Amino acid sequence: MTAPLTMLTEEERLFADTVRQFAEDRIRPRVQAMDEASRLDPEIIPPCFELGLMGIEIPEEHGGSGGSFFLACLAVEELSRVDPSVGVFVDVQNTLFNNCLLRWGTPEQIARYGPRMATDTVGAYALSESTSGSDAFGLRTRATKAGGLYRLNGAKLWITNGAEAGAYVVFATVDPAAGYKGITAFLVERGFPGFQVGKKEDKLGIRASSTTELLLEDCEVPEENVLGEAGKGYRVAIETLNEGRIGIGAQMVGCARGALEAALAYSREREAFGRSIFEFQKVQFDLAQMATELEAARLMVRNAARLKDAGQSFLKEAAMAKLYSSQVAERVTSAAVEIFGGYGYTRDYPVEKLYRDAKIGKIYEGTSNMQLATIAKALAG
Ligand SMILES: Cc1cc2nc3c(=O)[nH]c(=O)nc-3n(C[C@H](O)[C@H](O)[C@H](O)COP(=O)(O)OP(=O)(O)OC[C@H]3O[C@@H](n4cnc5c(N)ncnc54)[C@H](O)[C@@H]3O)c2cc1C
Repeated sequence: MTAPLTMLTEEERLFADTVRQFAEDRIRPRVQAMDEASRLDPEIIPPCFELGLMGIEIPEEHGGSGGSFFLACLAVEELSRVDPSVGVFVDVQNTLFNNCLLRWGTPEQIARYGPRMATDTVGAYALSESTSGSDAFGLRTRATKAGGLYRLNGAKLWITNGAEAGAYVVFATVDPAAGYKGITAFLVERGFPGFQVGKKEDKLGIRASSTTELLLEDCEVPEENVLGEAGKGYRVAIETLNEGRIGIGAQMVGCARGALEAALAYSREREAFGRSIFEFQKVQFDLAQMATELEAARLMVRNAARLKDAGQSFLKEAAMAKLYSSQVAERVTSAAVEIFGGYGYTRDYPVEKLYRDAKIGKIYEGTSNMQLATIAKALAG
């Protein structure tokens, strides 16, 4: 019998419980301070590695947890329920950097970087530039071959984990005249000559997640650090993002779940007109609507992740899951702010932050318009 989508295996349930407990014990007490400081507390990074959250799909022989993509999505959801900034920190590591490495890396590259990513190195994924976001293949960063290495020149913008990362997947073109067929993916280390982390963005939400510029000035990258083939980086970029956006769906589900749980608890405590506000039917109906939309979004995200793990096509389902879960997160967090009344508008309760955090879901890893374009293309066959 096929298992219902809401059902987790024993391993998945135990894993989700462990991550939830970690998020409650170690992250929740720091959420507000991290948001105010616009920085991840460095103390939460080592336990993320120790718990195996930074190398979920990395095979055990390379020091990872040897888990599934679905488990990575579960971790992102549980972390994002408490802090979507920590959710995306773990998401980029697993669904973008590690995913890219495992899918496109040579056995030698996997053996060299896998153990580091699983134990102490944060990863980032650098595709966007100031003039190319949705139109990602209009990128201008140039890679020029010189002997046994490439020299990279250009600047990347909006790079999540930029401040904490030690390793970056960087996209550059080896031949601007070839258009997208010049794009090449490189494994770049923070210590490579000519590499520098630039300005950090001051953002509306997910403030603790670093978003930085990367500056490449004659950055020297050994030839053996080309990921995939030279000129085939567009496939690395597209296929990784197709998968990665399921993780963003999980982040949005977690964010919405955090807001719904907080609003439900508050509605039972807060009294008005001599009763708890939960007793007003309109408040109950709002919560019921929020819970229903959240359930739908979660089913879509989980199904897309299960399809990926099963080796089935998931492109349309992933785009739909990301599109819908980001819409749901915005609606649910907004409704949660209203259920909290005036308190919801302050930083004393978690929903104000979750409302700000939700907005990013419609922007990164393909804006909502780009998801709609993917879905429409799939519909047209
Ligand atoms: C906090 C944050 C973290 C990020 N992290 C990363 C990261 O780790 N790595 C990385 O490489 N990038 C990252 N990004 C970049 C992100 O992916 C881009 O911002 C996003 O793809 C949109 O690109 P853009 O900002 O250039 O907007 P634009 O592409 O200029 O889009 C502007 C508007 O025009 C619309 N639009 C553009 N083209 C079309 C079209 N053909 N049809 C309809 N509408 C269209 C868009 O939907 C949007 O509404 C991050 C961004 C942010 C804000």
